[in-house]
Amino acid sequence: MTTFSFEFFPPRTTKGEHTLWDVVRRVEAQHPTFVSVTYGAGGSSRDRTIDITRRIAAETTLRPAAHLTAVGHSVAELRHIIGMYADAGIRNVLVLRGDPPGDPRGHWTPHPRGFTYARELVELVRSLGDFTIGVAAFPERHPRSADWESDVRHFVAKCHAGADYAITQMFFRAEDYLRLRDRVAAAGCDIPIIPEIMPATDVRQIRRFAELSGATFPEDLAHRLEAARDNPAAGHRIGVEHATAMAERLLAEGAPGLHYITLNRATAALDVHRNVQSSRSLSVQGVH
Ligand code: FAD
Repeated sequence: MTTFSFEFFPPRTTKGEHTLWDVVRRVEAQHPTFVSVTYGAGGSSRDRTIDITRRIAAETTLRPAAHLTAVGHSVAELRHIIGMYADAGIRNVLVLRGDPPGDPRGHWTPHPRGFTYARELVELVRSLGDFTIGVAAFPERHPRSADWESDVRHFVAKCHAGADYAITQMFFRAEDYLRLRDRVAAAGCDIPIIPEIMPATDVRQIRRFAELSGATFPEDLAHRLEAARDNPAAGHRIGVEHATAMAERLLAEGAPGLHYITLNRATAALDVHRNVQSSRSLSVQGVH
């Protein structure tokens, strides 16, 4: 079964919260497989992430996956948070190491009674009950990884520790995903790796994200968006077009699903999703 999922972040303001719930309802109407809520850098949004994830579970028909990072938490705290999710009926956890608060590229210092790598948190969640566990994958390898060999080896260790699926970092070239998938499969791990889709509609924003995540932003796409810098409608069209083409190619190449970043706005993500769905239903009907 092909999965379709959407990612939200916990807003800081009441206005942001209204916008989020509006978007959640629009996404709900598309009946996605699951939705996820990010965990603020350094655990800064911990209470909001937990609250929103619980409310999605209790008040909507959606199935939430909770992101959880090891940053700034002792093992005892992590156990407590996982227990709270279980009590709220949330059984899907996206387990991450996280980045140092303040400077994501800064020196990583684990909590003195915490974990150093996501693999250890996977082992903890796995030991605490019947959870579906997701982990992160990096189509252009993790920025801290010295080489591909170690990057893939550490990813496979998360599979062996109990991960059920992975979601990738954002990327803009289908080949990067396909190469990672083949490398991981060759190293003996066959969990589904779901590509993350980030429609690039605003060149300034996307360059910042790409820099933070280490994703390569294709120059031809950058030029087209640059030309549409002062025309948001044209930027939207270009970003949706590029993301739709990449998403369709990924599915045709056997990707197990698509995970859309919404930035709590969802317009572009929903447009890509509708495009993908309509070409899938046309191809089922044999139109192409
Ligand atoms: P790990 O798997 O621990 O890997 C981190 C680095 O350590 C890699 O280079 C890896 O190769 C290396 N490594 C692993 N094991 C070993 C070992 N035994 N020895 C030596 N090196 C090792 N961040 C947030 O703060 N909140 C979020 O909600 C969030 N959501 C995300 C969702 C997705 C889909 C993705 C892709 C990322 C997300 N992130 C989030 C960012 C993530 O926390 C960072 O990218 C972080 O730097 C890496 O996390 P990880 O789980 O891959 O770490």
